[in-house]
Amino acid sequence: MGSTPKNVRQRMKKLLQAPNLAIATLWADMLVGVGIGATVQRAYASGIAGEIPVDQSLPEVWVQDAEQLGRAKTLLHDWQHAPHRRWACPGCQEIIDGPFEQCWNCGHVLTP
Ligand SMILES: [Zn+2]
Repeated sequence: MGSTPKNVRQRMKKLLQAPNLAIATLWADMLVGVGIGATVQRAYASGIAGEIPVDQSLPEVWVQDAEQLGRAKTLLHDWQHAPHRRWACPGCQEIIDGPFEQCWNCGHVLTP
């Protein structure tokens, strides 16, 4: 054929932009936990500090294989629409806001 094979980077697909790095990391970890390759990418590849608009400096979650994008979106939708929780971590006093049962700051798992 003579064409260059697609590399891994080209198979990666942006899943969504996260409100902060902690949540992006948590979502990526959750996806990896269910067998979907996911990584956190910065929305900007390079830039001058202080000149990046806030909405362009947020972290993004990418799936490593475009074929898993649909499943990842479904899972994230479920997680984002799970019953809302707000609890203070007994381990580090971080306020955990959202459908999370694990503290993203210290890893403490919420137990009933
Ligand atoms: Zn904690």
